[in-house]
Amino acid sequence: EAKSSGRNRHCFFSPKLNQIAQFNAGVEADLRRAIDNDELFLEYQPIVEASDASYTGLEALLRWQHPVRGRLMPNEFMRVANDSGLIDRIGQWVIDAVCRQISEFKAEGIRLPHIAINISPRQFHAGKLCDEILGKIAQYGIQPGQIVVEITEELLLDQSVKLMEQLRSLRRNGIELSIDDFGTGYSSLQYLRDLPANRLKIDQTFVSRIEHSATDRAIISTIGHLAHALGMRVVAEGVENEAQRMLLRASGCDELQGYLFGRSLTVDQLRATFGQAAAVQQ
Ligand code: C2E
Ligand code: MG
Ligand code: MG
Ligand code: MG
Repeated sequence: EAKSSGRNRHCFFSPKLNQIAQFNAGVEADLRRAIDNDELFLEYQPIVEASDASYTGLEALLRWQHPVRGRLMPNEFMRVANDSGLIDRIGQWVIDAVCRQISEFKAEGIRLPHIAINISPRQFHAGKLCDEILGKIAQYGIQPGQIVVEITEELLLDQSVKLMEQLRSLRRNGIELSIDDFGTGYSSLQYLRDLPANRLKIDQTFVSRIEHSATDRAIISTIGHLAHALGMRVVAEGVENEAQRMLLRASGCDELQGYLFGRSLTVDQLRATFGQAAAVQQ
């Protein structure tokens, strides 16, 4: 009987969890095909300068056009991608797609601001991430400064990889680094000191509470002071309204990202936005 198997007794034989396991196995099989069938695509969310709302960057966000289930968001498949190891291939696909997009726009005479790519901890395991990115940059003839790598604090728990070396080699080669979702995971001040990051992104959970919580305002400005003292720019994620924007500016945030400034853009919307901006400037 399942009950006799000790602490995990509710896990292995619960019909509900069995259903979840089967569902995840289905997602994994579908995801495996998705890469080859061209079902993955990227959208790009603007990041703006806090002072004047000019575009400073874009963040590439993965979407999956599933043949039956329709458009899926990362929360519906990233866990399976990570647990199954498919994230390695998907991650390579994302890096290729971003570099290709930059070069295609460049050929059309459209200059995009830098593009941030989310990288899962697992993608560091093979120790080849930097070479992979540099290889794509060379293949498509773009500048390293056009790519930003976003990592999460979760990565810092992973002692199996020669992480700092890989991060430093990214920086040495002109690729910038952002610490994503800051404040939600394992924030060690030791690591913050050692990490060669250019930007620190304050997670949207803090931003969403800023209007009503003096504590969250204090946390945000303290993180801001610390980041500035360490030479990093501070980015606030998930900015949805004017009140948040004003408070974040007052708290010293340098860059802002969120629905207030724009949701993620399709490639056509990117063209409309940055093609026009380029035309106006000339
Ligand atoms: P993230 O890197 O923190 O990305 C920000 C998420 O917040 C995005 O969700 C974005 O659509 C959402 N967001 C932006 N502004 C607002 C706002 O004002 N309000 C609210 N409520 N949400 C906002 P998305 O696209 O669903 O991505 C979720 C997560 O999936 C990302 O979090 C990132 O961790 C992961 N992810 C996305 N694309 C990739 C990828 O290509 N590779 C990897 N490894 N992870 C990815
Ligand atoms: Mg991110
Ligand atoms: Mg984030
Ligand atoms: Mg987040």
